[in-house]
Amino acid sequence: MKFVKMLTAVAFIVAVSASLALAADKELKGKIKEGSCCAKAKAAGKACAHPCCVEAAKDGKVCEKCNAEKKK
Ligand SMILES: [Zn+2]
Ligand SMILES: [Zn+2]
Repeated sequence: MKFVKMLTAVAFIVAVSASLALAADKELKGKIKEGSCCAKAKAAGKACAHPCCVEAAKDGKVCEKCNAEKKK
């Protein structure tokens, strides 16, 4: 019985962390502008190497300079 309880707890933790990672990825994706240096780096499975983008990533953000929305 103890084993089943532990297994349930582990499964719960995995599910929660997986959904959190997915949510974080989704949020970041929404901010990255298509065709930007960050989007290209993400497509290659890497983090953008631009100094301005690295700084932004440290704060859990995407670089606003490189991912700014185009003004019409
Ligand atoms: Zn970038
Ligand atoms: Zn940048």
